[in-house]
Amino acid sequence: MNFQVDDMKVLGAVEGGGRTIKNIKETTRLDKGEIEKILEFLDQSKLIEAVEGKGIWGQRQYYFNATNEGSQKVGEYIEYLKNEWKKIIQFVTDGQRVELDDYMKENKFLVNMMLFFKIVNLPALGRLNLRFLIEGKHLCYKCKKDLGRFALKFSVSDCRKRGLKMPKGLTTHDDLCADCFDALPVR
Ligand SMILES: [Zn+2]
Repeated sequence: MNFQVDDMKVLGAVEGGGRTIKNIKETTRLDKGEIEKILEFLDQSKLIEAVEGKGIWGQRQYYFNATNEGSQKVGEYIEYLKNEWKKIIQFVTDGQRVELDDYMKENKFLVNMMLFFKIVNLPALGRLNLRFLIEGKHLCYKCKKDLGRFALKFSVSDCRKRGLKMPKGLTTHDDLCADCFDALPVR
C-alpha cells in the first residue's frame, strides 16, 4: 500500500458519506489544509469526484463523492485490515509478544486505522489488553498503561537522579508510571 494513512482516512470519510470538507474534518480530525491537499490528490487519482455547488451563503462550494474505483479501494483496504487483525490475534494467541512488537513497529498506525474503519473497537482492544498497540497514545514504557495528561510520569533523568536501575531500552522519549518507577531496583 503506497497510500499514506491520512489519504485512506479521507477517502474512507468521503466513501462513508462525508460530502463536504467540514464533514471530512469531523470524521478524520485532520486539519483543513491537509484535507484539501489530500482531496486534490484523490481527485487526480480518480478515486473521488468533486461537484461544484453552492453553500448556505451562496458561496461556491465543492461536494465530494467516491468513484466506483474509490469505493473499491476502500473495500479492499477493509479486507486488508481484517486480515491484519487476524495476524495480530494469531501473534497474541501464540504468545509471540516480541514478534508482535516488531510487526507493529513495521506497520505503524495499523491499529489506529482498524479503529477508524471500525474493524475493532476500544472495548475489544481493552479486553485483549491490546490498547498499547494504538500509536500516538502516551503509555508507560513498562506496563503499557495509559499515561493521562495529569498522571505522574517519570523519565530517564528521574531514574538517574534517584540512582535507579532503568528498564532495558528506556529512552529519553519514554516515561514510566508511578507504580513501575517505584518498583525499580536501586543500582
Ligand atoms: Zn507502568
